[in-house]
Amino acid sequence: MSAIEKRQNLDITTIRKQFPILNRKVNGYPLVYLDNAATSQKPQMVIDAIVDYYTNYNANIHRGVHSLSQEATDAYEQARKKLQQHFNAAKTHEIIFTSGTTHGINLVANGFTTLLKAGDEIIVSALEHHSNIVPWQMLCERTNARLLVIPMLPDGTLDIDAYDKLLSPKTKLVFVNHISNALGVINPIQSIIQKAHEFGAAVLIDGAQSCAHIKPDVQAIDADFYVASAHKMCGPTGVGILYGKEAWLRKLPPYQGGGEMIAEVTFEKTTYADLPHKFEAGTPNICGGIAFGVAVDYLNSLGFENIEAYETKLLHYVTDKLKSISGLKIYGDIAEKTAVISFNLEGIHPYDVGSILDKLGIAVRTGHHCAQPIMDYFKIPGTVRASFSFYNTMEEVDSLVSAVIKAKQMLA
Ligand SMILES: *Cc1c(COP(=O)(O)O)cnc(C)c1O
Repeated sequence: MSAIEKRQNLDITTIRKQFPILNRKVNGYPLVYLDNAATSQKPQMVIDAIVDYYTNYNANIHRGVHSLSQEATDAYEQARKKLQQHFNAAKTHEIIFTSGTTHGINLVANGFTTLLKAGDEIIVSALEHHSNIVPWQMLCERTNARLLVIPMLPDGTLDIDAYDKLLSPKTKLVFVNHISNALGVINPIQSIIQKAHEFGAAVLIDGAQSCAHIKPDVQAIDADFYVASAHKMCGPTGVGILYGKEAWLRKLPPYQGGGEMIAEVTFEKTTYADLPHKFEAGTPNICGGIAFGVAVDYLNSLGFENIEAYETKLLHYVTDKLKSISGLKIYGDIAEKTAVISFNLEGIHPYDVGSILDKLGIAVRTGHHCAQPIMDYFKIPGTVRASFSFYNTMEEVDSLVSAVIKAKQMLA
């Protein structure tokens, strides 16, 4: 273990033992997992919570009088409470369980169909994930509202002067990610939100990429809506949250019809259940919600200050090392970013680099990272993206760097 790892407050050796998958070999080499921006690995605590649920108290929730159903309901609602505290929502019923970020975005976009009229404007950023662009295009098709885009500057940050000019009384909704999954750049969401509010527009923040690295606080940033996925923060796939300010959630119509979201149903008229159930039609991912709560407990037990401090050291270490390789270009190489490195080797296709890294047991992402507009901007087919978590080590950075040098030699 390097000196840098010893100086900080996380015991990385112990932490790594809590993630069974990190013991794996891939193609004969120890796994070096650097695809954390796509999904994080899961600690034993989360895996145990999933096994415990199906082993001991699997039952449908909110309907049964029997004990198992009560236990499952209690655990699920306790998880909601934990998530409320973690995201710092004012009220528990402002936390809606979803299947993930994409679902949360679609829920809001669909709800705004009834709130927009022709000529209204929606502003999104050029740094968005595809899941953030398509639902708004669909909303604009339904309502004849206009979609405006905050452009990106060459360093990978948003052009805030251009944003100021886009805002107007016609702006009804602004939509940006806290951190870009393609470049790792941290957006100035607090001022983006404040400026939108001056025009009475609602703001939806995509926290999918930031939640594993920066402690979210929806009240401090004054977001109207906030979405996240459990699987990027050590929880299981297929579950996430939508936070919405109560007043906004009351304004939005239900998204899907079904069981659990109604108060009373007759063929003449149905009345909807109160929040949060109005948006939770059908049997939810009960086990996933409970395990999401456990994942959040786990992250908080490590401490977000510690996670941030360590990941920043990792970022500086890997950035310096990679920059020493001639012909290597890093995109979005600015101070305000998380431990995501998107790069290319001059004249070499990112896919070829990724394939060689995989043969050496190193998992990185290659391609457009669901953010084609960013790639178009740089006029590249994609990048190699290495994204780090607190369980990654300096030795793993060294393995990455040697492998990139090897790939360069092989492919040049
Ligand atoms: C991963 C990601 C999404 C999509 O999340 P899902 O879990 O696939 O719904 C959206 N936005 C950003 C910034 C992401 O990183």
